[in-house]
Amino acid sequence: MNPLFSDLTVLTYHKITRQREFGINTVTPDQFRRQMQYLYEHGYNPVTFRDLHKNHLPSQPLIITFDDGYVSVYENALPVLSKFGFPAVVFLISNYLGQENTWDANLGGVKFRHLNEKQVKQLSKEGIEIGSHGASHRALTYLEDREIESELKLSRDSMSRLSNQQVITLAYPFGLQNNRVQQIAKRSGYHFGCINLWGNSIPDNPMSIKRLPVYRTDSLKAFQRKLRTGPSKKRELMKLKLLSWSALLTPVYQKYIKKLYK
Ligand SMILES: [Zn+2]
Repeated sequence: MNPLFSDLTVLTYHKITRQREFGINTVTPDQFRRQMQYLYEHGYNPVTFRDLHKNHLPSQPLIITFDDGYVSVYENALPVLSKFGFPAVVFLISNYLGQENTWDANLGGVKFRHLNEKQVKQLSKEGIEIGSHGASHRALTYLEDREIESELKLSRDSMSRLSNQQVITLAYPFGLQNNRVQQIAKRSGYHFGCINLWGNSIPDNPMSIKRLPVYRTDSLKAFQRKLRTGPSKKRELMKLKLLSWSALLTPVYQKYIKKLYK
């Protein structure tokens, strides 16, 4: 593994939109443009996990990821990424293409639409790496082995076919994973697994890569600070955890209201 691997910054975005919701996972197109401009002006070189896999890393590499695959990535992020010549990684929920995010507890009542097949094909053509975020955005740690395998294999196969690229990267829904999930993911053909800040990250374990979430509440200064300190500074980590609590309500909602787990 490349020695840079453990220092590699991986950013997580969700929705790039002016629309507001209960959480803080929306970043406005203006904020996003300023952040990309900052990366461009400060010598960051965005890459993908495919580059990492081939060990093709430039100086100051960084990976930009988008979870859940919302239409706003196509409409609002892609034009900015193209302008700067930045690649990125989009993690799709394969059963929800073209549909609204009804898998989400959605406390604010605002619905968001997922990318459709045509948009995914276009993203792939523009050099975006397509990754899997499972077939139905269920918490994998709650599932039996056989169900995990079907979530991961189905989504990998269908996304590989659709995007015309080998899907090698997975973002665990809610960042929830353990050794059992990691082993099944590896068996299902994944080389990289992304978690969130609250997961256990083992240094240099490619199946448990920590990421740095970017929030609507982040000023450009806060964004720069995040890039500099990463998730390792205790206070920043605490703040990020506090800001992320609402995301963890969804597995509870899925379990008791939607009854998605046995
Ligand atoms: Zn997600």
